[in-house]
Amino acid sequence: MRIRANNPSPMTLTGTNTYVITSADDTSAVLIDPGPELAEHRENFLAQIGERKLSAIILTHQHADHSEMLGSVEAWAPDVPVYAVLEKFSRLSSPVADGDMIVFGTDTADMMEVVSTPGHTMDSISLIHDHVLYSGDTVLGEGTTIVTHPEGSLSDYLESLDRLIRFHGDGVFVSIEPAHGPTIESPAEVLAYYRSHRLERIDQVKAALAQGARTASAVCDIVYHDVDPSVRGAAEQIVRAQLNYLGALMPEDG
Ligand SMILES: [Zn+2]
Repeated sequence: MRIRANNPSPMTLTGTNTYVITSADDTSAVLIDPGPELAEHRENFLAQIGERKLSAIILTHQHADHSEMLGSVEAWAPDVPVYAVLEKFSRLSSPVADGDMIVFGTDTADMMEVVSTPGHTMDSISLIHDHVLYSGDTVLGEGTTIVTHPEGSLSDYLESLDRLIRFHGDGVFVSIEPAHGPTIESPAEVLAYYRSHRLERIDQVKAALAQGARTASAVCDIVYHDVDPSVRGAAEQIVRAQLNYLGALMPEDG
């Protein structure tokens, strides 16, 4: 079950998707990304959980549009463990890592497998259950995701995409439920596009450097000349991640 928070923006698309997945016997549930601190959103996902036992809360990464609601978790889900890569979000559990299995019911199928997919941020994970990949912001339902700097890393991101491409090729998952936007029914195409898009942008950054651009801002003016002013800050972050990847980040750019 997907519950969309009412926090639309150029970065969150139509809003943050919170997922509630129920156990085989329908008596317990797991919540992925509680989302922004919005009372209506909390009421909506708690209504979806209903009388079921909430066994686990999983955070795909640190960004506030996914994690902010954890600030009040004591009030709405006392005693429920929170699984996250970063210690500061973990509760009643040690931080999770690649390959961990998060159990949320009594059936052997009631498990979420943690797949480490760093890049968008260093703490980004995806989750696999029942041949569905819950991708957080690593893959989005529309457009492409950003690689943040310094929380993220472009080299890690490209490796994560390669890993997901392999997993999909091996039949580990057949569709993707992203944290923003609609279901991705054709992961192979989307993942290949993400990869080629990133490589194309890297070539554009190289060309901008060759033209004499010397700061992240100057590179951004060339490579992202057509972006809406509202996402200029995000574009500059991607450029910093790209320059860092190319070993060309200027000290003043951080
Ligand atoms: Zn994010």
